[in-house]
Amino acid sequence: HAKAAGRNTHAIFGSHMDELLSDRRALEADLRLALKTHSQLETFYQPVFAADTGALSSLEALARWKHPTLGDVSPDQFIPLAEETGLIHEISALVLEDACRTLAELPDIHIAVNASALELASPGYALRVLGILAKWQVQPNRLEIELTESAMTPEKSEVETTISTLRSAGVRFAIDDFGTGYSTFSRIQRIEVDRIKIDKSFIGEMHQGASKAVVSAMISMAKAKGLLVTAEGVETDEQRSALQDFGCDHLQGFLLSKPLPRSTAITLATADQRVTGIRA
Ligand code: C2E
Ligand code: MG
Ligand code: MG
Ligand code: MG
Repeated sequence: HAKAAGRNTHAIFGSHMDELLSDRRALEADLRLALKTHSQLETFYQPVFAADTGALSSLEALARWKHPTLGDVSPDQFIPLAEETGLIHEISALVLEDACRTLAELPDIHIAVNASALELASPGYALRVLGILAKWQVQPNRLEIELTESAMTPEKSEVETTISTLRSAGVRFAIDDFGTGYSTFSRIQRIEVDRIKIDKSFIGEMHQGASKAVVSAMISMAKAKGLLVTAEGVETDEQRSALQDFGCDHLQGFLLSKPLPRSTAITLATADQRVTGIRA
């Protein structure tokens, strides 16, 4: 069997990690096994804070894969693979289940999960989401779904149907990685969302005057349309303070907190810690 032979070759000749990682079929088989055995995959939670008060506002649920020999595999690697192979539906079901379990335990905060266009275009997605929320008796308005802009291409009318079904039930939506994809403010007006998340590449360039002006303009335009704004990838005090000046609503990034294991995130949320140094 060719697949097995491919694996054995790697094992026998001890190829470099790069080659192993590029062996997508082997990685796919490993991902299937991880899903089957309910091990290796875990949900981490990155805290998001109110820019003005520094209070914890929400958590973003992020999938993590601890591979037995490769160690941590980045979501940027396994999520695209999962999308190509259809395994994304199982992964997102696991993450959503974990997120709803966490919401049931933490009554005061919101949780965001990521979803790809593929998932939102899949019939039954909206009902599955509402089913899991009902199972954990969580109000739908405590869940936010983050969509990357590729989900917003004009042809995706199934996606729009899913969004409107879930929005009628109270689920909130955000456009993730805003500024990197197809979204224009006019399209955002058509496909209703509650929030934009400015992509971390823009935040990372804010030391440049022109990029800082772009971020400021994005925030002003979003506010003019009544949208909430989160900045992702906040890594420096300078970025934080400029974002506060621009009226950005929420901040997320390594400066404030890395993604945390579920139990650590629950401890943080229960203690309602404030980030030190955030200007009140
Ligand atoms: P994203 O949704 O834009 O998530 C934010 C990413 O930025 C996370 O990467 C997070 O760890 C990282 N990040 C947060 N703060 C900082 C910072 O200050 N600096 C830098 N350099 N990075 C920061 P992560 O966890 O590796 O996830 C990458 C992407 O994979 C996510 O981007 C999301 O698009 C996707 N993803 C992760 N989990 C899931 C999932 O359960 N379902 C789906 N469909 N996609 C997921
Ligand atoms: Mg996200
Ligand atoms: Mg993002
Ligand atoms: Mg991203």
